[in-house]
Amino acid sequence: MQQSIDTYDFKGKKAIIRVDFNVPLDASFAVTDDTRIRAAVPTIKKVLAGGGAVILMSHLGRPKGVTDKFSLKHIIATVEKLIGTKVQFADDCQKAENEAAALQPGQVLLLENLRFYAEEEGKARGLAEDASDEEKAAAKKAIKESQKEFVKKLASYADCYINDAFGTAHRAHGSTALIAEYFPNDKMFGYIMENELKAIDSVLKNSEKPFTAILGGSKVSTKITIIESLMEKVDNLILGGGMTYTFKAALGGSVGDSICEKDQFETALRILEVAKQKGVNVVLATDALCGDAFSDDCKKQVCPADSIPAGWEGMDIGPDTMVAFAEVIKNSKTILWNGPVGVFEMPSFSKGSRAVAEAIVEATKNGAYSLIGGGDSVACINQFGMADKVSYVSTGGGALLEYMEGLELPGVAAIRK
Ligand code: AMP
Repeated sequence: MQQSIDTYDFKGKKAIIRVDFNVPLDASFAVTDDTRIRAAVPTIKKVLAGGGAVILMSHLGRPKGVTDKFSLKHIIATVEKLIGTKVQFADDCQKAENEAAALQPGQVLLLENLRFYAEEEGKARGLAEDASDEEKAAAKKAIKESQKEFVKKLASYADCYINDAFGTAHRAHGSTALIAEYFPNDKMFGYIMENELKAIDSVLKNSEKPFTAILGGSKVSTKITIIESLMEKVDNLILGGGMTYTFKAALGGSVGDSICEKDQFETALRILEVAKQKGVNVVLATDALCGDAFSDDCKKQVCPADSIPAGWEGMDIGPDTMVAFAEVIKNSKTILWNGPVGVFEMPSFSKGSRAVAEAIVEATKNGAYSLIGGGDSVACINQFGMADKVSYVSTGGGALLEYMEGLELPGVAAIRK
């Protein structure tokens, strides 16, 4: 049975919390962006304030075994500072029974990186490249077996389980999904998970119209499923970024050296056809800021988006398109933004994404609900210092997109079922 973190009685209980402490570290192992740790603080504090003890578990990076570089010991000081409590550390997540047993209400224990064990992801490691299918199948079976023991051990440390790692909710890993089985009546979402699901549901299920989705990024091929599922829900679909040129070329335009996926022409034309049938207003760029090389200091010129000369590539939307996109956005009541509309990492090509962000901020001020999600658009809105001027900034990239596509996320299902 799913519990609520707001009503659960944590008094005298130990809560094992799956957090997402996969934070960037610099060369001397200092945390360079503590957003993810900061986001988990309300959940941790709620358990402590309720008289419980906290066991934190997370992954960091993609280690292929025990690697000092990926040790969670590097983040202890940051966690302590942010939650204002001393943090004990168990340097092996599978040998923490004594530390867990000794934990008193109000205390916090952080487990070492879960991915030091292949069992966390349940993927066999160290197979020879030329392993036969039988060997692969046997290795897979073996890891699935030992995964059960791995998860059981983690579960044995605590009385209840909280999943607060939305960013990994689309993975059926030991700590994100399988462990929930051991807490049939004592499992719940943390505040990050609750807020993420509420935000996405309010966009997908209760959206006030007009609903506009702005999709950018580099390629059509990675966005097809989300485009197709959004087509059922939106009134306006603004398509920007590198994928613009696949559409323009499919329609017969010339796009110079812009990103162009010839194998996606049919898909692009199909998307436009379906949009027409469903009455969805697809808004594509009419002009592009082009460069003669993929660099910030290249030569630049504005060209019609379907008439770009050879040797030039479209790297941002042009001035007319900025006005057109902004107009649609400002007249919307629900807005979803995923993916920058230009190469925003280069200052010369960030103006289009900034114009989109500014229009979203203005619409939000006028009462629209705006959700920004997907790694790069979040980096973008942070870079512009506008994250606190939109309704919600999602922490989940892949998880957000999969949830929006209507897929059931294992991390969500494990709590709800
Ligand atoms: P994605 O991960 O697919 O959302 O792509 C994000 C990336 O798309 C960012 O790094 C942008 O620099 C890049 N991008 C956006 N517009 C363009 C463009 N016109 N040409 C090349 N890359 C682009």
